[in-house]
Amino acid sequence: MSQVTDQLLKTFNLRSTPTRQEILHLFLRKDYALSHSDIESEIAEDIDRVTVYRTLKTFHDHGLMHKVLDDGGALKYALCTDACSATEHRHEHVHFKCSVCGQTNCLEIGIPHIKLPPGYAAGEMNLLIQGVCPGCSNQHV
Ligand SMILES: [Zn+2]
Ligand SMILES: [Zn+2]
Ligand SMILES: [Zn+2]
Repeated sequence: MSQVTDQLLKTFNLRSTPTRQEILHLFLRKDYALSHSDIESEIAEDIDRVTVYRTLKTFHDHGLMHKVLDDGGALKYALCTDACSATEHRHEHVHFKCSVCGQTNCLEIGIPHIKLPPGYAAGEMNLLIQGVCPGCSNQHV
């Protein structure tokens, strides 16, 4: 489909298939996190639910995408930045959800260190800020 998606799949040691290409291409076109249903409504109808699910899991397991938790409980995925690899996802950045357009974006802002009470061991951290995105707050941007 495109050289960019081909190259990305190659970088992450993934075999290139039309489905992987199509889903990856969709993420590159949109610059916000996508849920299963977002993806299903955008891609070709002959790609079934299970295939979408498996493809996302594969992308996640290979360090190509990370999960974005949403307040609505829907699991979304977003493309990872260069820092991630198949063995380790290393980004604890802030996610911003716009209450007007409903889009969730990755922000290049790290989550501040949080001191936990004794006995608590931190694992994964997620920080979701909700508000209004630049596109919705000022249409002249
Ligand atoms: Zn990652
Ligand atoms: Zn918005
Ligand atoms: Zn993110």
